[in-house]
Amino acid sequence: MGAGVIYDRVALIGLGLIAGSMGLRMKRDGLAGEVVGTARTAKTRDLAVGLGLCDRVCATAADAVQGADLVVLCVPVGAMEAVAREIAPHLAPGATVSDVGSVKRAVIGAVRPHLPEGVQFVPAHPLAGTEHSGPEAGFAELFDNRWCLLTPEMDGPEVARLTRLWEALGSSVETMAPDHHDLVLAVTSHAPHLIAYTMVGVADDLRRVTDSEVIKYSAAGFRDFTRIAASDPVMWRDVFLTNKDATLEILGRFTEELFALQRAIRTGDGDLLHEYFTRTRAIRRGIIEAGQDTDAPDFGRGPKR
Ligand code: NAP
Repeated sequence: MGAGVIYDRVALIGLGLIAGSMGLRMKRDGLAGEVVGTARTAKTRDLAVGLGLCDRVCATAADAVQGADLVVLCVPVGAMEAVAREIAPHLAPGATVSDVGSVKRAVIGAVRPHLPEGVQFVPAHPLAGTEHSGPEAGFAELFDNRWCLLTPEMDGPEVARLTRLWEALGSSVETMAPDHHDLVLAVTSHAPHLIAYTMVGVADDLRRVTDSEVIKYSAAGFRDFTRIAASDPVMWRDVFLTNKDATLEILGRFTEELFALQRAIRTGDGDLLHEYFTRTRAIRRGIIEAGQDTDAPDFGRGPKR
């Protein structure tokens, strides 16, 4: 049996990969009475209508949130504050506001102060995405078997209801403190993205290896880096600007480990390298066993697109 209608009207602010995937799934499974959307540009709004991501689009966020019992901010982290300021006077009493931003402490600081009494803010972050962005990138199965982390200030019926929505979207839901979220994501997502960006940049700078060779002989490791490094520049700029402390903490540790491995290579310390790689291999196996990835070379993402 399906989950049924969880919210009467959901307003999606921003209509890119994440909002588009939410809209398609909510419409496919009848999780909302109505899905209303808005995006900054007319081009995206028109595309969203054409793709059936929502029932109706509005020209402004202020219009889109009218009468909505759930408003989800799906814009880059750096745009959250301006959107919150715009929608605040137009929110329905008793509405829940949520977001999908990749960073939580900074989004709470940007959004919470603008919301009126009687409106609940339940921040969320679905751990699901691809390197593609924009409304055409959305697909209804994006959140299947992924985690969605909620970082609410306190527990309550609004948290339980949003949890039901994310479970109906296909995810497993867990709550945690915003600072802890930011540290966990710095380790599992933010620092790895920066490393991928750096590695692709290094290959680009290394003029002794021609572009055609880089492309032609791209082995799996580098190819995976290029996929990650193709992620949206605005989104990732905002992630690093707003999760600065946790990312710098992890990068500091990364640099120390890198130096240790560099020294092991220079001194020919094969035991250290072997022990290190054995430990990391076990971590990879743990991720696959937990169902968070597959062993397929395309990470199981190919056929969905
Ligand atoms: P996206 O596909 O690039 O879409 C972003 C949407 O936000 C577009 O509709 C865009 O409108 C709108 N927008 C951009 N800048 C804006 C601004 N300054 N003011 C108002 N609207 C603006 O992005 P996404 O991948 O869905 O990401 C959205 C949020 O989800 C981000 O906070 C990101 O951190 C988070 N997130 C992303 C992923 C991922 O892998 N992509 C995963 C989890 C969470 P126009 O098209 O009209 O410009």
